[in-house]
Amino acid sequence: MQYRLFRGLAGVLLTLLGTGLLSLRYHSSLTPQTVQGTPRLNQPSLGPRELQLGDVFIAVKTTWAFHRSRLDLLLDTWVSRIKQQTFIFTDSPDKSLQERLGSHLVVTNCSVEHSHLALSCKMAAEFDAFLASGLRWFCHVDDDNYVNPRALLQLLRDFPQTRDIYVGKPSLNRPIHASEPQSQNRTRLVRFWFATGGAGFCINRKLALKMVPWASGSHFVDTSALIRLPDDCTVGYIIECKLGGRLQPSPLFHSHLETLQLLEAAQLLEQVTLSYGVFEGKLNIIKLQGPFSLEEDPSRFRSLHCLLYPDTPWCPPLVAQ
Ligand code: UDP
Ligand code: MN
Repeated sequence: MQYRLFRGLAGVLLTLLGTGLLSLRYHSSLTPQTVQGTPRLNQPSLGPRELQLGDVFIAVKTTWAFHRSRLDLLLDTWVSRIKQQTFIFTDSPDKSLQERLGSHLVVTNCSVEHSHLALSCKMAAEFDAFLASGLRWFCHVDDDNYVNPRALLQLLRDFPQTRDIYVGKPSLNRPIHASEPQSQNRTRLVRFWFATGGAGFCINRKLALKMVPWASGSHFVDTSALIRLPDDCTVGYIIECKLGGRLQPSPLFHSHLETLQLLEAAQLLEQVTLSYGVFEGKLNIIKLQGPFSLEEDPSRFRSLHCLLYPDTPWCPPLVAQ
């Protein structure tokens, strides 16, 4: 019994050590930079310090094929406003991205494929880099998402720090089912909610630390393979089925799997994430008149960016009313 306990403890220690080493190997340059400016000293007499954008780690998942067509647009727009907090996870080196991003471009060893395994491999790298950063919130987005940093901060500030938080847009309007292999060839049917990765989601550090046994290092890919589901489902499975947590649904995250035109212009400025793409054979983009035409700005991200940040040098000057 004591021996088993010792083995269990040794296993946990090895996992934690492994995570640390892995993160150091891939992301040794991340820690000092991101932790700077985010003092973690307790101030008991003043209560917890109010959340700042400097406390948030934003991971963007991308792949070689989208470096020019998608990533450059993000770097020109929202990433430029929150560069210190944003890390881009890809599968291939890229000189021009490297020049623009420096240590904020993370070239993983994950394969250039759309397989569950390749995508989970990137999510694992994102998660490990977040753990190593010491920051308070982990937010994941895809490379076809626009993130509004102000709206994100407003949303995250409202959550009590004492709770485990997993917030995002539920992928379906019902829980997903999965078979969880048990011992002796038996399986157990499990049901859980998950936030669609294509709309982005956030997890606080308190919860992320509890996820370590299933999500750090090689464990994430193993967990994903076990339930045979993609990376975003795996996150939901770990939180809801392994830890008894709950997805906190938010209508402020958006993927291109919903009709984006339904959002009114005034609402657009308050959303945490937006997207663009093709849905059911039709172009699915947010509804915005200018300042750029559809030809100049097919995703509408540049037009949105100019509404949010009119001081951007490439935005047309505001016309006096
Ligand atoms: N992606 C990837 N490897 C691939 C294909 C896609 O890492 O081989 C990433 C892509 O960069 C994006 C996300 O996975 O961040 C979702 O891809 P996409 O938007 O093309 O597909 P969706 O699932 O949204 O239809
Ligand atoms: Mn997409």
